Amino acid sequence: MSGAARVLLVTGGGRGIGAAICRLAAKAGYRVAVNYVSNEAAAAALVREIEAEGGKAFAVKGDVGSEADVLAMFAAVDARFGRLDALVNNAGVVDARARVDEMSAARLERMMRINVIGSMLCAREAVKRMSTLHGGTGGAIVNVSSAAAQLGSAGEYVDYAASKGAIDTFTIGLAREVATEGVRVSAVRPGIIDTEIHASGGQPDRIAAIRGLVPMKREGKAEEVAEAVLWLLSDKASYATGAILNVSGGR
Ligand code: NAP
Repeated sequence: MSGAARVLLVTGGGRGIGAAICRLAAKAGYRVAVNYVSNEAAAAALVREIEAEGGKAFAVKGDVGSEADVLAMFAAVDARFGRLDALVNNAGVVDARARVDEMSAARLERMMRINVIGSMLCAREAVKRMSTLHGGTGGAIVNVSSAAAQLGSAGEYVDYAASKGAIDTFTIGLAREVATEGVRVSAVRPGIIDTEIHASGGQPDRIAAIRGLVPMKREGKAEEVAEAVLWLLSDKASYATGAILNVSGGR
């Protein structure tokens, strides 16, 4: 890395997998923009932690499902750091366990707006800043998909699984679209990872309930996903684009 330290924006960076990515990225020398939507305290505490260890970070509020918020968030990163080298589309939500024949249109719209449109809006803004076509110097995007994209999540949340299937297809298409413009686009598919997302979907005991289905017979840690993301972002992955890496204990 030459010149100023690279700048990374992590959506939903204040907690869970996103926070692990921010921590690891700061240790690797990135300046980190930590996006959050409601938990300001968690994002602020993470920024303090990174700064205490000599890193550079700032917290930026915004709902990735709102175009106005996405534009304001990228403008805030421009103002703070003056460049953008990497984006991790990590922000994502689940919903309560339900069958498709029980799902309201409002639920489906929220799921797709945050998980799919949010990631696409953020990728659009990142490409405008990083692509050589737009005068940028290149960069990398990693989308956080899910093992659910391949499993389908029948009886649990097929809408969530389908939103992650869309992320997989988006990853391949955007990767090919910008492949000659210095921008690599990849994804990770985490399996069952120990974060608060399961409780947020009304299933605090979900990990214990499905641990036995994982070939490795254990849940993953957010840090194990972060390692894969940091590799995909790095120059060590210079020939990897459109790549989708399962980080799921074999599931
Ligand atoms: P988490 O612990 O629930 O954290 C979710 C993060 O996303 C929070 O930082 C939250 O912000 C943020 N967020 C939610 N909605 C947002 C919005 N509209 N705009 C901006 N930020 C928003 O979740 P996690 O388990 O770390 O999941 C992170 C990603 O990994 C998600 O895309 C998820 O689908 C994926 N994933 C997780 C697992 C797993 O088992 N944990 C497995 C496969 C894939 P606040 O802090 O402000 O609330």
